[in-house]
Amino acid sequence: MSSYRPVSDVLKAQPVTEGAGVHLMRVFGHAELSRFDPFLLLDDFRGDDPALYERGFPMHPHRGIETITYMLEGTVDHRDSLGNAGTIGPGEVQWMTAGGGILHEEMPHGDEAGRMYGFQLWANLPAQDKMMPPCYREVLATDIPQVRTDTGGLVRVVAGSFAGISGPVRDILTAPSYLDVTLPPRVEFEHPVEPGDTVFAYVFAGDAVFGVERQERAGNRSLVSFGRGPEGKILIRAEADGVRFLLISGRPLDEPVAWGGPIVMNTREELAQAFRELEEGTFIRR
Ligand code: FE
Repeated sequence: MSSYRPVSDVLKAQPVTEGAGVHLMRVFGHAELSRFDPFLLLDDFRGDDPALYERGFPMHPHRGIETITYMLEGTVDHRDSLGNAGTIGPGEVQWMTAGGGILHEEMPHGDEAGRMYGFQLWANLPAQDKMMPPCYREVLATDIPQVRTDTGGLVRVVAGSFAGISGPVRDILTAPSYLDVTLPPRVEFEHPVEPGDTVFAYVFAGDAVFGVERQERAGNRSLVSFGRGPEGKILIRAEADGVRFLLISGRPLDEPVAWGGPIVMNTREELAQAFRELEEGTFIRR
């Protein structure tokens, strides 16, 4: 018996248009529902043409979830209904807990070459925390530890830990791990994962072979998910050009999901109430 998690699936990101007309690639979302529990959605919004992203995401609500934005190039200006404002720059992460509700806008801007590269992940909140006060974790690039593997790989640790080094985002109930892993050509990467956790990798440069018994080769804009189970490790081997991928895991909530656009609750009643409050102007609690 192998102690490695088996590869269960490979998904290709699909083009969608969101916000005020932002062209992006959806890796998973509403269509996959509970498959990536506790995660709800992953968007890859890397773009080189400002015309395809500059209209951004004007004021919209969130409730019941966390949105995790990781920038590689360019910036996103952020402003919310509670008076918070800031800019997420290259290498930075904004881990936003919408909790009981925020209204915010997210406006992307390219660098000098027009590049605006980043990812947004949505994590579900446990029922008991859905109505918690909103909060932010603003993570600077210099706050994210960069750990060299003994085979020459490089791991940026946003959340969770690698080789005993913990990332700056802590105290999240689903105990997520969020790693940005770069491997040189032909280098192997082995990483322990928690039994029962949902685990997936999203490749955004190069290619790699994932898994042991069932092997899948995956390249840019492909997600590789690993089967749930008691097994404790995953194995990834970079191909000839090396590889860079996000490696994300978290503890499933196993709770009912009632999902309406940017609001994710447990019951239809809670969802209807959220939209009623939006109409009546009582959505934001001060
Ligand atoms: Fe948003």
